[in-house]
Amino acid sequence: MHLELTSLLALADERVLTRGKERFMSGAVIEAARSRGRIQARVAGSAPFPYRVEINLTRGEWRCSCPYAWGPVCKHVAAVAFAALEAPEIFIRRKLGRSVPLNMQPLRELSDDELLRFLWQLSEERPELLHEFAYNLLQRYE
Ligand SMILES: [Zn+2]
Repeated sequence: MHLELTSLLALADERVLTRGKERFMSGAVIEAARSRGRIQARVAGSAPFPYRVEINLTRGEWRCSCPYAWGPVCKHVAAVAFAALEAPEIFIRRKLGRSVPLNMQPLRELSDDELLRFLWQLSEERPELLHEFAYNLLQRYE
């Protein structure tokens, strides 16, 4: 399966398209990178952490770290699709790390104590990751 960005945009509703286009036009698409069949970028918005977007054209999959759940395509994914179509030069070509599937099994096997210790360690080594994780988690429950 090979996904075209225009077909992806065709799935978004009108409002999402407008806001996605605005995001792209205002320079919110940052850290854009692509490899064969895959696009990754972050999209700055009202949240303190730019959302992470990945579009896998080869597999026909896309995802965003935002909590949007009212349609198949959020404005961040739309913004990245617009950027890839209209400003391909902002995408650095590089080999992208393996993305999915993420193996969560080892985390599930940890006891609560071990998990807390792990998070504590993460907060010391990569505090920005933990902050982003906690922020995105809270967004989902609001
Ligand atoms: Zn999003």
